[in-house]
Amino acid sequence: MNGMTVFVVEDEQDISSLIALHLRKSGFIVLEFGKGNDFLNFLKRKIPDLIILDLMLPDIDGIEICKYIKSEPCYRSIPVIILTAKTEETDKIIGLELGADDYITKPFSPRELVARIKNILKRSHGAYETKLLKVGDILLVDLERYEVYVKNKKVQLTNTEFNILKVLLSKKGYVFSREKILDMLWHGEKAVVDRTVDVHIKKLREKLGEASWLIKNIRGVGYKIEE
Ligand code: CA
Repeated sequence: MNGMTVFVVEDEQDISSLIALHLRKSGFIVLEFGKGNDFLNFLKRKIPDLIILDLMLPDIDGIEICKYIKSEPCYRSIPVIILTAKTEETDKIIGLELGADDYITKPFSPRELVARIKNILKRSHGAYETKLLKVGDILLVDLERYEVYVKNKKVQLTNTEFNILKVLLSKKGYVFSREKILDMLWHGEKAVVDRTVDVHIKKLREKLGEASWLIKNIRGVGYKIEE
């Protein structure tokens, strides 16, 4: 679990600190948010590996946040654990119905919470982290669903365009020659010429619109993706 990021959304400072302390001891990177809005704003910049969400927050209802996360294509696969007080039993059920992955009732043992987090991450790791790629804060690629989003808007790519993007994303910053791309996608079919790659990349860039700058042409060499 080393280096995995957990966002803790909880306005009660002592609870938040306690969770953060235990998670850090287990090697997690923890970011704490006392307000729902601060959390939602930050989420646009960084996708965590897991979210711990208190349902009673000063500004936004935790249930609304959960609903939002689980309905947004770019966020829905992030595991969410909701924190509830005993008196919020119905919220717990609503939260689970909205797609929260687990819940824990206050007061709770931090060690139990950490154990649950590890379990969820074991289950979802790979299923989530390696299949959802965010590039340059603007481009999101869901490798599992073959979906691409630019600023949260879905972009329709052809299979070839998607696969070229996937190749470039497999090694960010690395320049892929046209030959290499051809080889990876068409497995050395002789009929396909270098120019094919240029044509597909041109179309891909057009479709990516505002995110097109992420794909860079290295004159005489090939293409790379870089933030
Ligand atoms: Ca609270």
